[in-house]
Amino acid sequence: MSHSADDLVRRSLAHVWHPCTQMKDHEWLPLVPVERGEGAWLIGPDGKRYLDAVSSWWTNLFGHRHPHIVARMKEQLDTLDHAMLAGFTHPPVVELSERLAAITPGDLSRCMYTDNGSSAVEVALKMSHHYWALNGQPERTRFVALSGGYHGETLGALAVSSTGLYRDAYRPLLLEPLVVRAPDCGVMEPGGRAPGVSWEDHARRVFREMEATLERHHKEIAAVIVEPLIQCAGGMRMWPPIYLKLLREACDRYGVHLIADEIAVGFCRTGKLFACEWADIVPDFLCLSKGLTGGTLPLAVCMTSERIYEAFYDDYSTGKAFLHSHSYTGNPLTCTAALATLDILEQQDWPAHVRGLGQHLYGAVSELSRHPHVAEIRQQGFVLAIDLAADGPGRKPYPAGERRGLRVYQHGLEHGALLRPLGNTVYFMPPYVVTEEEIDWLAGVAIEGIERATAD
Ligand SMILES: *Cc1c(COP(=O)(O)O)cnc(C)c1O
Repeated sequence: MSHSADDLVRRSLAHVWHPCTQMKDHEWLPLVPVERGEGAWLIGPDGKRYLDAVSSWWTNLFGHRHPHIVARMKEQLDTLDHAMLAGFTHPPVVELSERLAAITPGDLSRCMYTDNGSSAVEVALKMSHHYWALNGQPERTRFVALSGGYHGETLGALAVSSTGLYRDAYRPLLLEPLVVRAPDCGVMEPGGRAPGVSWEDHARRVFREMEATLERHHKEIAAVIVEPLIQCAGGMRMWPPIYLKLLREACDRYGVHLIADEIAVGFCRTGKLFACEWADIVPDFLCLSKGLTGGTLPLAVCMTSERIYEAFYDDYSTGKAFLHSHSYTGNPLTCTAALATLDILEQQDWPAHVRGLGQHLYGAVSELSRHPHVAEIRQQGFVLAIDLAADGPGRKPYPAGERRGLRVYQHGLEHGALLRPLGNTVYFMPPYVVTEEEIDWLAGVAIEGIERATAD
């Protein structure tokens, strides 16, 4: 069915409460109607095309409507739509679990599925505490989280997030984590990395705070939760693998779990299949979602080791089971979308491809490093972020209320690019199927947009 663009927007504003949005903004900021997806592009009913430079909130890996994913999903729809996973099992969930166990780091061999990333984080938090309680340490009720981290919107996941904007309104409802300064290597004030200090030295120095927190509180800590290498929602803040290595060692020393939230960075985004591989470490819990289905359907998984699984494995009467479920846990159609995604991942050396695209993108925007209102360009794999600053050399941020990033967004939409900044951070996180020509064009749009947004 074809819709008129205006009609779709009007009806949407009448009934849809859009996520993460001050709805009043849409009195002057047009809502963008889309009707079709085609590779890296989204297409409106009016025929307008937008290059999906943020992979539809970091979910898409291989473009919209990838023929292999679509074909496998259609086949699955003709076979089994859904069956409850308690007491039953089915081929897609079995095959997916085997394949995830094979490709993830180390001995992560047990998969607990949920429908979104936030719920996978809830599983990790609950399982970690529950594990300690089953092992005679019920006093381990606290979690350590990094400043600027983001782990989702449900109350547990939100509690261990520290993106103030999303969290503040619910503060009275939330668990109190121990928040430790993140090893963010950005140069922006306040507290940025000093000029001339290497990422590694900066991270080692900042790690002392983590070490001190673990030393002081380890008896009450269940787990430390981090987003390996890139704190995405917090503004694409980046940090080096050494911190992850030091953290794994310290967690072992203090007998604390490590939860790696790779919901946004898993599946080659950082230039390796999983970000933990950069530090050659294995977390106790690994949370995956977003790219897991190639950006087609909601699915998440919390993976853990046999050792943790076994703590829950006992006679029914001991009451040790992990009694967590969601109605659609392990849905066959979503698992099939994930299997198709893994098929594509195996078809070529995507980590190398992604690193190459990242380098090309860096080259395409590098002229901005001399721009008076750009504090920094940073990159890891196929994520590139540019911080806008009121005064480049002094690296003072623009007041948030000026919404400079939003101006770049508007400029992008006018020219057919979906670039949705995080505050004053303009970033690129495109699907892995964009071409170098598309990257060059996108960089041009962004550079013009940044010029316009910082002109006054
Ligand atoms: C998006 C995200 C989540 C939450 O996932 P949802 O599917 O949106 O609930 C958690 N952690 C990280 C690092 C994320 O980027």
